[in-house]
Amino acid sequence: MIVADQELKILAEALDVLGGGFEHLPALRRETDWDAVREAVTAAARAMHDNYPYGHPLYAGQMLKPPHSVARLAYQLALWINPNNHALDGGRASSRMEKSAVEQIAGMYGWSKYLGHLTSSGTLANLEALWIAGQEHPGKVVVASSDAHYTHNRLCRVLGLPFDAIEADSRGVMQIDGLENRLAKGDVGTIVATLGTTGFGAVDPLNEILALARQSGARVHVDAAYGGYFVLSHGLSASAQAAFNSIGQVESIAIDPHKHGLQPYGCGCVLFREPTIGRHYDHQSPYTYFSSDELHLGEISLECSRAGAAAVALWATQRALPLTKNGEFADDLSKCLTAARALAGALSENDSVHLVTDPELDIVVWAIAPTDQANASELAQKVFDLAAVDDLHLALIDVAKERLPEAMHTEGRDTVTCLRSCLMKPEHLDVIPLLLEKLNAATRRALSGS
Ligand SMILES: *Cc1c(COP(=O)(O)O)cnc(C)c1O
Repeated sequence: MIVADQELKILAEALDVLGGGFEHLPALRRETDWDAVREAVTAAARAMHDNYPYGHPLYAGQMLKPPHSVARLAYQLALWINPNNHALDGGRASSRMEKSAVEQIAGMYGWSKYLGHLTSSGTLANLEALWIAGQEHPGKVVVASSDAHYTHNRLCRVLGLPFDAIEADSRGVMQIDGLENRLAKGDVGTIVATLGTTGFGAVDPLNEILALARQSGARVHVDAAYGGYFVLSHGLSASAQAAFNSIGQVESIAIDPHKHGLQPYGCGCVLFREPTIGRHYDHQSPYTYFSSDELHLGEISLECSRAGAAAVALWATQRALPLTKNGEFADDLSKCLTAARALAGALSENDSVHLVTDPELDIVVWAIAPTDQANASELAQKVFDLAAVDDLHLALIDVAKERLPEAMHTEGRDTVTCLRSCLMKPEHLDVIPLLLEKLNAATRRALSGS
């Protein structure tokens, strides 16, 4: 699974170039016990065997996508400097690279004047957006769909903001009637729309949500941590396309380069349409911000120290794979959509399988029809276990029983455990036949009770 010859060669070349910029300094002497380093690092390699093979396309479970070689190399390269993007004092070049990389992300949504920066994660990006929402509409309610990421409810508790959920429909998207009724109470300050959801990859009808928000005066925040890059892909459904087309009109966006943006973990991003919200971040620091009158990213970020390496990796990745609608990056996203549809299409022809909903993005969720011996939840767990023994790694999800035919319900339970597969790697498209072969074998064995 690990082929690194070319990467190590390029890294050595790039480190030479980097070192060339600091040659005028007196030589640095540091005593290092290389045997101890070797022992510890190889011990770490052995300890890391206890992992699922996340980078391999037969890992088709949770939302895990390997970083691109460019990202992996640029990140490692940056570690020899280890810049800190809190202030220009600690990360001069990498702060500029962050501003430039974020500008490209904002550009995907048609924004040229905005406020934005990288964060450690989607959670932190959403925290900042909801914090600003609370500053703009103090005490008012934040609503999100019942299928929104659980983080919104919890972050509202952290921020002391009231939170309410709007029921999602059988496809997993926010019910517009429910939203309209909730807005009529007059106390909603912010609507969180999810494009798409973590469970199903469902896309909330943002265009309709925006129309209601404008009538009621509520802000709209889009949680696009997982789905934000699909704005560049081809072949979305008409409803998903309409939602993505209207992202540019919202007040704030959270997107995770470490989900679909080919980055190592530690790279989220928050964007605000209105640069003037920067006033809420206003603070004095007695320690920093002396080195330049240019904007220090710490002046517009809740986090202080942040990995400059993450910005270097993102900048380099976007240089090699620009965020355009026509190009390798967009084509690879479209392959993920195609893979999900191919898997869903094949599953829907299998009588012992029930597709929970047609995939909008690249996540597929399905239930296994119960037998006399086992209920649907037990069978999903069995397929999950049997597939893993055969090196096919899937995920499981508990789905509200109302979203499934009654025959699938389990006595005494409100949910049915279903199988879930995130097809986030373009290579998934090439392995769909193999994946189906393994999946069908596991399903047959689970059903026969062997
Ligand atoms: C993953 C995800 C989050 C959380 O982001 P992290 O980067 O894991 O902190 C929030 N919202 C959605 C929709 C997500 O898919």
